Amino acid sequence: MAAVTALPVSLSGRFKGSFAYFIIKDKLPRILTKAIDTLHRHKNEFFEEYGEKGVEAEKRAISLLSKLRNELQTDKPVTPLEDELPDAPLWNRYLDYQRNLSNGNGEPSWFQSPWLYVECYMYRRIHAAVAQNPPIDSFDVFKEGKAQNFFESQEAIIALCTYFQELLKNIKDLDEKQLREELFKLLQVSLWGNKCDLSFSAGEDTSQKASPLQSLENMIPYILVNDMEKIWSLLVSAKNRNIEKSKFRVDIILDNAGFELVCDLVLADFLVSTKLANEVHFHGKSIPWYVSDTTKHDFNWTIKQLQSGNHLWMSRCGINWEGNLKQGIWVYHDHMFWTLPHDFASMAEVAPDLYADLQKSDMLLFKGDLNYRKLTGDKKWECSVPFHQALNKFHPAPLCSLRTLKSDTQVGLQPGQGEQIQASDPEWMTSGKYGIVQFDAGL
Ligand code: MG
Repeated sequence: MAAVTALPVSLSGRFKGSFAYFIIKDKLPRILTKAIDTLHRHKNEFFEEYGEKGVEAEKRAISLLSKLRNELQTDKPVTPLEDELPDAPLWNRYLDYQRNLSNGNGEPSWFQSPWLYVECYMYRRIHAAVAQNPPIDSFDVFKEGKAQNFFESQEAIIALCTYFQELLKNIKDLDEKQLREELFKLLQVSLWGNKCDLSFSAGEDTSQKASPLQSLENMIPYILVNDMEKIWSLLVSAKNRNIEKSKFRVDIILDNAGFELVCDLVLADFLVSTKLANEVHFHGKSIPWYVSDTTKHDFNWTIKQLQSGNHLWMSRCGINWEGNLKQGIWVYHDHMFWTLPHDFASMAEVAPDLYADLQKSDMLLFKGDLNYRKLTGDKKWECSVPFHQALNKFHPAPLCSLRTLKSDTQVGLQPGQGEQIQASDPEWMTSGKYGIVQFDAGL
């Protein structure tokens, strides 16, 4: 076990040349500029829909976003939220906490604050800029990018839906070995679907072009932690205990809409169709978040798009999935906590209702990089520190992270494994090329 004497420091932009520095200085302003452009481009639409009031609201929202971009670029202090949105008091309490951490060195600025916190803060301010300006208050500045990713991944989506519908035809005849194999395939599809992330590419095209099932074999060496066997054990032992009598609930804490979401929905359908689980709960974001994260609107929109798609197997998926939601086999949730800056170790205290709900689950699947950062507190951990230790007492239920690496925090590797990859591929932690399927039983 790695010797760790104290909690390591949070990643922040204060170290020039660090990845966090690059993101805060370069990528976040680009995302803001795109959001401003998007509002500009919709000016006529706002006018047609709401008249002068719509255009005035657009102008006010743009001026708030420009002010925000200026604060960021000139490394001003992070200021308390001034809006009346329900989560503002929680945010401002967190801000006080950060200020106290800076030991009287004044107001912490964008670059002096933890990266995770200021990145979340930026998305929260983008939301406030629009949400405070009716009648355009429900406009999602990231909506177009998410839809574009979905449409540009069309062929991959068709390939996946076709594969899955063919699989469903014989699903009852599959023996345990085959079930295990198919589960592993769909877990990997869901894992690599996480490459489609628009916050990572600052909104540039990340759609999936090739069939997601084609190159799984070749990608196996890139899975740095592979706990699929543990997931299988948990699922199959419950099935063998006969879950008809006792429920087995899986929760998927979603990341991106577009192609990745379709991969997650296929995985969820597989779990219920094989009776490895009999309930799947999805957790999305209650506000537009990290450019491509799934909101309730994106979730429903995706299922509707699939339904009305011009491909038989694609629309079959959409129809089945709406049915699952109607019957309560699938449940969609969003909770404010997912768009707060807090790491998950503080969930029990900050959002006890959500923590209690997750405790009802039999397995939690956390998708993507941001969830991983929040699971591990976004610290500069040594790579060989055990996952369980980095979770810092967060274990409402057995959990698993399916994540492609896009930020420089990673735990649970074999001793020396991180150093070895570092030597051959210095960008391994942030390139999105590597992935993990990392399990914690919570014991
Ligand atoms: Mg995301």
